[in-house]
Amino acid sequence: MEHPENDEMYKGLKVNKGISDAPTVNPYLTKRIQRKEYTPAEFVDGILKGNITILSQAVTLVESARPEHQQVAQEIIEKCLPYAGKSVRIGITGVPGAGKSTSIDAFGIHLLNQGHKLAVLAIDPSSERTKGSILGDKTRMEELSREKNAFIRPSPSAGSLGGVARKTRETIVLCEAAGFDAVFVETVGVGQSETAVHSMVDFFLLIQLAGTGDELQGIKRGIMEMADGIIINKADGDNIEKAKLAASQFRNALHLFPLADSGWTPKVLTYSGYYKLGIPEIWEMIDEYVAFTKNNGYFSHKRNEQAKYWMYESINETLRDTFYHNPAVEEMLVATEQQVLNNEISSFVAAKRMMDLFLHDLSKK
Ligand code: GDP
Repeated sequence: MEHPENDEMYKGLKVNKGISDAPTVNPYLTKRIQRKEYTPAEFVDGILKGNITILSQAVTLVESARPEHQQVAQEIIEKCLPYAGKSVRIGITGVPGAGKSTSIDAFGIHLLNQGHKLAVLAIDPSSERTKGSILGDKTRMEELSREKNAFIRPSPSAGSLGGVARKTRETIVLCEAAGFDAVFVETVGVGQSETAVHSMVDFFLLIQLAGTGDELQGIKRGIMEMADGIIINKADGDNIEKAKLAASQFRNALHLFPLADSGWTPKVLTYSGYYKLGIPEIWEMIDEYVAFTKNNGYFSHKRNEQAKYWMYESINETLRDTFYHNPAVEEMLVATEQQVLNNEISSFVAAKRMMDLFLHDLSKK
Protein backbone atom coordinates (compact mmCIF):
# COMPACT_ATOMS: atom_id res chain seq x y z
CA MET A 1 0.00 0.00 0.00
CA GLU A 2 1.24 3.47 -0.83
CA HIS A 3 2.31 5.27 2.35
CA PRO A 4 0.04 8.24 3.28
CA GLU A 5 3.05 10.45 3.93
CA ASN A 6 4.00 10.09 0.26
CA ASP A 7 0.86 12.05 -0.61
CA GLU A 8 1.26 15.25 -2.58
CA MET A 9 0.33 17.35 0.46
CA TYR A 10 3.49 16.26 2.29
CA LYS A 11 6.69 17.85 1.13
CA GLY A 12 9.01 15.91 3.42
CA LEU A 13 11.19 12.94 2.64
CA LYS A 14 9.84 10.06 0.67
CA VAL A 15 9.06 7.04 2.83
CA ASN A 16 10.18 3.80 1.22
CA LYS A 17 8.73 0.36 1.65
CA GLY A 18 10.37 -1.29 4.64
CA ILE A 19 12.04 -4.64 4.91
CA SER A 20 11.41 -7.20 7.59
CA ASP A 21 13.99 -7.57 10.38
CA ALA A 22 16.61 -10.26 10.07
CA PRO A 23 16.07 -13.08 12.56
CA THR A 24 17.97 -12.52 15.81
CA VAL A 25 18.46 -16.21 16.41
CA ASN A 26 20.66 -18.28 14.13
CA PRO A 27 18.08 -20.29 12.12
CA TYR A 28 20.41 -23.30 12.04
CA LEU A 29 20.20 -23.51 15.81
CA THR A 30 16.61 -24.70 15.71
CA LYS A 31 17.92 -28.00 14.46
CA ARG A 32 19.71 -28.44 17.77
CA ILE A 33 16.95 -27.10 19.94
CA GLN A 34 14.43 -29.50 18.47
CA ARG A 35 16.83 -32.38 18.68
CA LYS A 36 15.44 -35.82 18.40
CA GLU A 37 14.96 -37.91 21.50
CA TYR A 38 16.71 -41.17 20.75
CA THR A 39 15.88 -44.49 22.34
CA PRO A 40 18.79 -46.30 24.04
CA ALA A 41 18.93 -48.72 21.10
CA GLU A 42 19.17 -45.82 18.64
CA PHE A 43 21.94 -44.27 20.73
CA VAL A 44 23.89 -47.52 20.72
CA ASP A 45 23.36 -48.00 16.99
CA GLY A 46 24.56 -44.43 16.30
CA ILE A 47 27.60 -44.80 18.54
CA LEU A 48 28.61 -48.09 16.95
CA LYS A 49 28.36 -46.43 13.53
CA GLY A 50 30.73 -43.71 14.78
CA ASN A 51 28.12 -40.93 14.64
CA ILE A 52 29.77 -38.08 16.57
CA THR A 53 26.59 -36.10 17.18
CA ILE A 54 24.93 -39.09 18.80
CA LEU A 55 28.11 -39.89 20.75
CA SER A 56 28.18 -36.31 22.10
CA GLN A 57 24.55 -36.51 23.15
CA ALA A 58 25.17 -39.82 24.91
CA VAL A 59 28.11 -38.29 26.77
CA THR A 60 25.83 -35.44 27.84
CA LEU A 61 23.49 -38.03 29.36
CA VAL A 62 26.42 -39.69 31.14
CA GLU A 63 27.35 -36.30 32.60
CA SER A 64 23.81 -35.39 33.62
CA ALA A 65 22.80 -35.63 37.26
CA ARG A 66 19.14 -36.26 36.41
CA PRO A 67 18.05 -39.81 37.35
CA GLU A 68 16.11 -40.33 34.09
CA HIS A 69 19.21 -39.37 32.08
CA GLN A 70 21.39 -41.62 34.21
CA GLN A 71 19.05 -44.53 33.60
CA VAL A 72 19.31 -44.17 29.82
CA ALA A 73 23.07 -43.53 30.08
CA GLN A 74 23.64 -46.74 32.06
CA GLU A 75 21.66 -48.74 29.52
CA ILE A 76 23.74 -47.30 26.68
CA ILE A 77 27.02 -47.99 28.51
CA GLU A 78 26.02 -51.56 29.21
CA LYS A 79 25.20 -52.21 25.55
CA CYS A 80 28.43 -50.53 24.42
CA LEU A 81 30.68 -52.45 26.82
CA PRO A 82 31.16 -55.50 24.57
CA TYR A 83 32.53 -53.17 21.87
CA ALA A 84 34.81 -51.21 24.22
CA GLY A 85 38.30 -51.80 25.54
CA LYS A 86 40.15 -51.81 22.23
CA SER A 87 41.95 -48.49 22.58
CA VAL A 88 45.20 -47.47 24.14
CA ARG A 89 44.34 -45.14 27.01
CA ILE A 90 46.92 -42.54 27.85
CA GLY A 91 46.90 -40.22 30.85
CA ILE A 92 48.64 -36.88 30.36
CA THR A 93 49.50 -34.58 33.22
CA GLY A 94 51.63 -31.50 33.78
CA VAL A 95 51.36 -28.21 35.61
CA PRO A 96 49.60 -25.30 33.88
CA GLY A 97 51.99 -23.87 31.31
CA ALA A 98 53.87 -27.15 30.84
CA GLY A 99 52.44 -27.28 27.34
CA LYS A 100 49.68 -29.85 27.63
CA SER A 101 47.36 -28.37 25.03
CA THR A 102 50.16 -27.58 22.58
CA SER A 103 51.51 -31.10 23.01
CA ILE A 104 48.15 -32.85 22.75
CA ASP A 105 47.51 -30.95 19.54
CA ALA A 106 50.84 -32.14 18.15
CA PHE A 107 50.57 -35.74 19.48
CA GLY A 108 47.01 -35.93 18.19
CA ILE A 109 47.85 -34.84 14.65
CA HIS A 110 50.70 -37.35 14.62
CA LEU A 111 48.31 -40.14 15.61
CA LEU A 112 45.66 -39.12 13.09
CA ASN A 113 48.31 -39.10 10.35
CA GLN A 114 48.99 -42.70 11.24
CA GLY A 115 45.32 -43.56 10.72
CA HIS A 116 44.16 -43.53 14.34
CA LYS A 117 40.98 -42.02 15.76
CA LEU A 118 41.56 -40.02 18.91
CA ALA A 119 39.32 -38.98 21.80
CA VAL A 120 40.62 -36.29 24.16
CA LEU A 121 38.91 -36.21 27.55
CA ALA A 122 39.81 -34.35 30.71
CA ILE A 123 39.49 -34.46 34.47
CA ASP A 124 39.68 -31.04 35.97
CA PRO A 125 39.03 -30.83 39.70
CA SER A 126 38.83 -27.04 39.57
CA SER A 127 36.03 -27.01 37.04
CA GLU A 128 33.42 -27.25 39.78
CA ARG A 129 34.58 -23.94 41.17
CA THR A 130 35.08 -22.14 37.91
CA LYS A 131 31.87 -23.55 36.40
CA GLY A 132 33.69 -24.38 33.24
CA SER A 133 36.59 -26.56 32.44
CA ILE A 134 39.98 -25.25 31.50
CA LEU A 135 41.00 -28.64 30.18
CA GLY A 136 39.99 -30.54 27.09
CA ASP A 137 38.62 -27.36 25.64
CA LYS A 138 38.45 -27.30 21.86
CA THR A 139 39.80 -23.79 21.64
CA ARG A 140 43.03 -24.94 23.24
CA MET A 141 43.67 -27.57 20.59
CA GLU A 142 43.29 -25.62 17.43
CA GLU A 143 44.53 -28.07 14.85
CA LEU A 144 42.98 -31.13 16.40
CA SER A 145 39.58 -29.52 16.82
CA ARG A 146 39.24 -29.21 13.04
CA GLU A 147 39.81 -32.92 12.46
CA LYS A 148 36.89 -35.25 11.96
CA ASN A 149 38.71 -38.19 13.53
CA ALA A 150 39.27 -36.31 16.79
CA PHE A 151 36.65 -36.06 19.52
CA ILE A 152 37.45 -33.44 22.16
CA ARG A 153 35.40 -33.17 25.31
CA PRO A 154 36.06 -30.88 28.29
CA SER A 155 35.96 -32.18 31.84
CA PRO A 156 32.55 -32.97 33.32
CA SER A 157 31.99 -30.19 35.81
CA ALA A 158 29.50 -31.36 38.39
CA GLY A 159 30.16 -33.36 41.51
CA SER A 160 33.05 -34.71 43.51
CA LEU A 161 36.35 -35.73 41.94
CA GLY A 162 35.18 -39.34 42.24
CA GLY A 163 31.95 -38.50 40.41
CA VAL A 164 33.74 -36.55 37.69
CA ALA A 165 36.25 -39.35 37.23
CA ARG A 166 33.51 -41.96 36.97
CA LYS A 167 31.82 -40.00 34.20
CA THR A 168 35.09 -39.74 32.31
CA ARG A 169 35.64 -43.45 32.66
CA GLU A 170 32.17 -44.16 31.31
CA THR A 171 32.81 -41.74 28.45
CA ILE A 172 35.91 -43.78 27.54
CA VAL A 173 33.64 -46.81 27.04
CA LEU A 174 31.37 -44.89 24.67
CA CYS A 175 34.30 -43.43 22.71
CA GLU A 176 35.85 -46.86 22.28
CA ALA A 177 32.56 -48.31 21.10
CA ALA A 178 32.44 -45.46 18.56
CA GLY A 179 35.75 -46.66 17.14
CA PHE A 180 38.25 -44.33 18.82
CA ASP A 181 41.37 -46.44 19.22
CA ALA A 182 43.40 -43.87 21.15
CA VAL A 183 42.11 -42.03 24.20
CA PHE A 184 43.87 -39.22 26.03
CA VAL A 185 42.78 -38.28 29.51
CA GLU A 186 44.27 -34.95 30.46
CA THR A 187 44.62 -33.49 33.94
CA VAL A 188 46.43 -30.70 35.74
CA GLY A 189 49.38 -31.90 37.76
CA VAL A 190 48.40 -30.27 40.99
CA GLY A 191 46.31 -32.56 43.10
CA GLN A 192 44.37 -35.75 43.56
CA SER A 193 43.23 -35.91 40.00
CA GLU A 194 46.34 -37.77 38.81
CA THR A 195 45.38 -40.75 40.92
CA ALA A 196 41.92 -40.74 39.36
CA VAL A 197 43.41 -40.57 35.85
CA HIS A 198 45.97 -43.23 36.70
CA SER A 199 43.13 -45.54 37.67
CA MET A 200 41.67 -45.47 34.16
CA VAL A 201 44.63 -45.41 31.76
CA ASP A 202 47.19 -47.88 30.43
CA PHE A 203 50.08 -45.46 30.17
CA PHE A 204 50.72 -42.38 32.27
CA LEU A 205 52.72 -39.52 30.74
CA LEU A 206 54.15 -36.72 32.83
CA ILE A 207 55.04 -33.51 31.00
CA GLN A 208 57.86 -31.56 32.61
CA LEU A 209 59.83 -28.45 31.86
CA ALA A 210 63.53 -27.76 32.13
CA GLY A 211 65.27 -24.56 32.95
CA THR A 212 63.98 -23.80 36.40
CA GLY A 213 67.32 -24.79 37.92
CA ASP A 214 65.97 -27.33 40.34
CA GLU A 215 63.85 -29.52 38.12
CA LEU A 216 63.13 -32.17 40.65
CA GLN A 217 61.71 -29.84 43.22
CA GLY A 218 58.02 -29.34 43.50
CA ILE A 219 57.11 -32.62 41.86
CA LYS A 220 55.29 -34.88 44.18
CA ARG A 221 57.05 -38.17 44.52
CA GLY A 222 53.72 -39.95 44.04
CA ILE A 223 53.26 -38.46 40.59
CA MET A 224 56.78 -39.44 39.53
CA GLU A 225 56.10 -42.95 40.73
CA MET A 226 52.94 -43.21 38.66
CA ALA A 227 54.64 -42.08 35.45
CA ASP A 228 55.47 -44.64 32.77
CA GLY A 229 57.14 -41.92 30.77
CA ILE A 230 58.44 -38.46 31.62
CA ILE A 231 58.67 -36.12 28.67
CA ILE A 232 60.48 -32.81 28.89
CA ASN A 233 58.81 -30.21 26.73
CA LYS A 234 60.14 -27.06 25.08
CA ALA A 235 63.39 -28.72 24.04
CA ASP A 236 63.92 -26.13 21.32
CA GLY A 237 66.26 -23.19 20.67
CA ASP A 238 68.40 -22.24 23.67
CA ASN A 239 66.55 -24.69 25.82
CA ILE A 240 67.78 -27.92 24.22
CA GLU A 241 70.81 -28.40 26.46
CA LYS A 242 68.85 -27.55 29.62
CA ALA A 243 66.19 -30.06 28.62
CA LYS A 244 68.82 -32.76 28.10
CA LEU A 245 70.32 -31.99 31.50
CA ALA A 246 66.90 -32.16 33.14
CA ALA A 247 66.31 -35.50 31.38
CA SER A 248 69.45 -36.99 32.88
CA GLN A 249 68.50 -35.68 36.32
CA PHE A 250 65.11 -37.34 36.01
CA ARG A 251 66.70 -40.60 34.84
CA ASN A 252 68.95 -40.58 37.89
CA ALA A 253 66.05 -39.87 40.21
CA LEU A 254 64.00 -42.69 38.67
CA HIS A 255 66.78 -45.16 39.40
CA LEU A 256 66.11 -44.63 43.09
CA PHE A 257 62.55 -45.87 42.76
CA PRO A 258 61.71 -49.55 43.11
CA LEU A 259 60.84 -51.37 39.89
CA ALA A 260 57.15 -50.87 39.04
CA ASP A 261 54.72 -53.82 39.08
CA SER A 262 54.63 -53.66 35.30
CA GLY A 263 58.33 -54.53 35.12
CA TRP A 264 58.73 -51.50 32.86
CA THR A 265 61.45 -48.95 33.55
CA PRO A 266 60.01 -45.48 32.88
CA LYS A 267 61.70 -43.62 30.06
CA VAL A 268 62.64 -39.95 29.96
CA LEU A 269 62.55 -38.13 26.61
CA THR A 270 62.89 -34.53 25.47
CA TYR A 271 60.70 -32.97 22.78
CA SER A 272 59.11 -29.77 21.57
CA GLY A 273 55.33 -29.71 21.29
CA TYR A 274 55.40 -26.31 19.66
CA TYR A 275 57.99 -27.13 16.97
CA LYS A 276 56.80 -30.75 16.72
CA LEU A 277 60.23 -32.23 17.44
CA GLY A 278 60.74 -35.65 19.00
CA ILE A 279 57.08 -36.63 18.75
CA PRO A 280 57.38 -39.96 16.88
CA GLU A 281 59.82 -41.11 19.59
CA ILE A 282 57.14 -40.59 22.25
CA TRP A 283 54.78 -42.87 20.34
CA GLU A 284 57.46 -45.45 19.84
CA MET A 285 57.92 -45.47 23.62
CA ILE A 286 54.20 -46.00 24.18
CA ASP A 287 54.02 -48.74 21.53
CA GLU A 288 56.97 -50.42 23.18
CA TYR A 289 55.26 -50.23 26.59
CA VAL A 290 52.04 -51.71 25.22
CA ALA A 291 53.91 -54.57 23.52
CA PHE A 292 55.99 -55.17 26.67
CA THR A 293 53.04 -55.25 29.07
CA LYS A 294 50.81 -57.28 26.73
CA ASN A 295 53.61 -59.78 26.52
CA ASN A 296 54.11 -60.12 30.28
CA GLY A 297 50.37 -60.07 31.03
CA TYR A 298 50.45 -56.80 32.96
CA PHE A 299 48.29 -54.90 30.44
CA SER A 300 45.19 -57.02 31.03
CA HIS A 301 46.02 -57.46 34.73
CA LYS A 302 45.99 -53.68 35.17
CA ARG A 303 42.71 -53.32 33.27
CA ASN A 304 41.13 -55.98 35.48
CA GLU A 305 42.38 -54.24 38.60
CA GLN A 306 40.96 -50.97 37.33
CA ALA A 307 37.59 -52.58 36.58
CA LYS A 308 37.52 -53.93 40.13
CA TYR A 309 38.53 -50.55 41.56
CA TRP A 310 35.71 -48.83 39.68
CA MET A 311 33.18 -51.36 40.83
CA TYR A 312 34.01 -50.60 44.46
CA GLU A 313 34.20 -46.89 43.76
CA SER A 314 30.70 -46.98 42.29
CA ILE A 315 29.38 -48.97 45.25
CA ASN A 316 30.93 -46.50 47.68
CA GLU A 317 29.55 -43.55 45.81
CA THR A 318 26.06 -45.03 45.61
CA LEU A 319 26.11 -45.89 49.31
CA ARG A 320 27.21 -42.39 50.23
CA ASP A 321 24.60 -40.80 47.98
CA THR A 322 21.79 -43.00 49.25
CA PHE A 323 22.76 -42.30 52.84
CA TYR A 324 23.03 -38.53 52.54
CA HIS A 325 19.89 -38.21 50.43
CA ASN A 326 17.80 -40.36 52.75
CA PRO A 327 15.00 -38.16 54.20
CA ALA A 328 15.36 -39.56 57.74
CA VAL A 329 19.11 -38.90 57.65
CA GLU A 330 18.68 -35.44 56.17
CA GLU A 331 16.26 -34.56 58.94
CA MET A 332 18.55 -35.56 61.81
CA LEU A 333 22.07 -34.99 60.51
CA VAL A 334 22.59 -31.36 61.50
CA ALA A 335 21.05 -31.82 64.96
CA THR A 336 23.23 -34.87 65.58
CA GLU A 337 26.31 -32.96 64.47
CA GLN A 338 25.39 -30.24 66.94
CA GLN A 339 25.15 -32.81 69.76
CA VAL A 340 28.70 -33.88 68.93
CA LEU A 341 29.88 -30.27 68.97
CA ASN A 342 28.14 -29.73 72.35
CA ASN A 343 30.00 -32.76 73.74
CA GLU A 344 26.67 -34.47 74.45
CA ILE A 345 27.59 -37.58 72.48
CA SER A 346 30.77 -38.91 70.94
CA SER A 347 31.39 -38.92 67.18
CA PHE A 348 31.10 -42.71 67.14
CA VAL A 349 27.81 -42.84 68.96
CA ALA A 350 26.53 -40.13 66.62
CA ALA A 351 27.64 -42.09 63.57
CA LYS A 352 26.02 -45.25 64.90
CA ARG A 353 22.75 -43.44 65.58
CA MET A 354 22.69 -42.05 62.07
CA MET A 355 23.44 -45.44 60.55
CA ASP A 356 20.74 -47.12 62.67
CA LEU A 357 18.28 -44.46 61.61
CA PHE A 358 19.20 -45.00 57.97
CA LEU A 359 18.99 -48.80 58.12
CA HIS A 360 15.70 -48.64 60.01
CA ASP A 361 14.28 -46.29 57.38
CA LEU A 362 15.42 -48.61 54.59
CA SER A 363 13.87 -51.65 56.24
CA LYS A 364 10.48 -49.94 56.21
CA LYS A 365 10.57 -49.65 52.41
P1 GDP B 1 49.09 -26.00 29.28
O1 GDP B 1 48.67 -24.97 30.27
O2 GDP B 1 49.87 -27.10 29.95
O3 GDP B 1 47.99 -26.53 28.42
O4 GDP B 1 50.16 -25.27 28.31
P2 GDP B 1 50.00 -24.64 26.86
O5 GDP B 1 50.00 -25.70 25.81
O6 GDP B 1 48.91 -23.67 26.86
O7 GDP B 1 51.42 -23.89 26.72
C1 GDP B 1 51.84 -22.87 27.58
C2 GDP B 1 52.79 -21.94 26.84
O8 GDP B 1 53.98 -22.63 26.48
C3 GDP B 1 52.21 -21.40 25.54
O9 GDP B 1 52.58 -20.07 25.42
C4 GDP B 1 52.87 -22.24 24.47
O10 GDP B 1 52.99 -21.57 23.25
C5 GDP B 1 54.23 -22.52 25.07
N1 GDP B 1 54.76 -23.80 24.58
C6 GDP B 1 54.11 -24.99 24.57
N2 GDP B 1 54.90 -25.95 24.03
C7 GDP B 1 56.07 -25.35 23.72
C8 GDP B 1 57.30 -25.83 23.12
O11 GDP B 1 57.46 -26.98 22.75
N3 GDP B 1 58.29 -24.91 22.98
C9 GDP B 1 58.15 -23.62 23.35
N4 GDP B 1 59.19 -22.81 23.16
N5 GDP B 1 57.02 -23.14 23.88
C10 GDP B 1 55.99 -23.99 24.06
